[in-house]
Amino acid sequence: MDYPALRRSKLVDTLTAEGLDAILVGGTANVSYLTSFSGDSSYLVLGREGALLVSDGRFTQQIAEECPGLPAHIRPTGQTLYQATAEVLGQSRYRAVGFEAAHVTVAEMETLRELAPAISWKGVRDAVEQFRVLKDASEVAQIREAIAIAERAFAALRVFLRGSDSEKDLSDSLEYYVRRCGGKSSSFPSIVAVGERSALPHAPASARQVQEGELVLVDWGASGRFYKSDLTRVLVPRTNSPFQSRANALRARGQLEQVYAAVLQAQEQALRIIRPGVPAQEVDNAARQVISAAGFGEFFTHGLGHGIGMEVHEAPALRPNSQTSLQAGMVMTVEPGIYLPGWGGVRIEDDVLVTPDGCEVLTSVSRDLQAMICDL
Ligand code: ZN
Ligand code: ZN
Repeated sequence: MDYPALRRSKLVDTLTAEGLDAILVGGTANVSYLTSFSGDSSYLVLGREGALLVSDGRFTQQIAEECPGLPAHIRPTGQTLYQATAEVLGQSRYRAVGFEAAHVTVAEMETLRELAPAISWKGVRDAVEQFRVLKDASEVAQIREAIAIAERAFAALRVFLRGSDSEKDLSDSLEYYVRRCGGKSSSFPSIVAVGERSALPHAPASARQVQEGELVLVDWGASGRFYKSDLTRVLVPRTNSPFQSRANALRARGQLEQVYAAVLQAQEQALRIIRPGVPAQEVDNAARQVISAAGFGEFFTHGLGHGIGMEVHEAPALRPNSQTSLQAGMVMTVEPGIYLPGWGGVRIEDDVLVTPDGCEVLTSVSRDLQAMICDL
């Protein structure tokens, strides 16, 4: 099936209701979504007269390969993207043209207004994103692939984990493993946080080294050609040497079992209620209640999850004030966490597809605490 053509025709169908003849799509992911073009610095002009990709000579061959049959205006060297866009619009019958308010800067818009004074411009929001929130079969398949890549990379990280590794070493290694396992890159700079640093939900990787009995929180993901994954696990490293066993490490582990169980139960409770029609805030609330009942309510300091797809953070948001209701085809993370300052943090993050009668957890790496113990 020609998914990009289908998506373009759905978008064109919405233009009349917006009072538009055409839309100028400038968001890089949105252009890719509507064309399969993987480059950047290009605009898609889409209206009743058809679709036209405005790009430059670096991409001529790539456009022919990635989007066969899609008309392209390749601007000559010396003509800016804005001049080329104004020229294309000047040759069309379009008068009312929408632009993506979230993706075109004020300076770019001023330039376009100057160059195309006959056009009546109107900023629109979520014109493409409203479709991207519901994933079609090809998108779900690509997200599954991005997850499989991330999971293979994580298996490699575990095998090669050593006591001399720093957070930075491990974050860098993950980047390599993700690429080696078939990814284009990591979806975002991997978070690797050791010991009490795992209490920082978005800790930047430091020189802190892995030690026995201390948590290692790993939040990572892979970018496939277009789609991304996002997972979190905590590892519990141990050595076989009895001299390395420290009383405080053992005490920390006692607390770990309690914290880990609360986070896991919160995630399982959320997964039980996810299905079409359920308000996103109810899912957040279900997880939050489990963590509060365990006595850690004030230490769950972020929303429960976020949509993933071509971007690592997109709609829908699972958080207390979310106004969205879930629909089949949404893909999002479910990632409760408990962060105890001075002790550390536990987050368990999986990627979930809303199905017609519930949900499917797309990730498969174990969530069992015993499986998180790994030998140094
Ligand atoms: Zn994450
Ligand atoms: Zn996430």
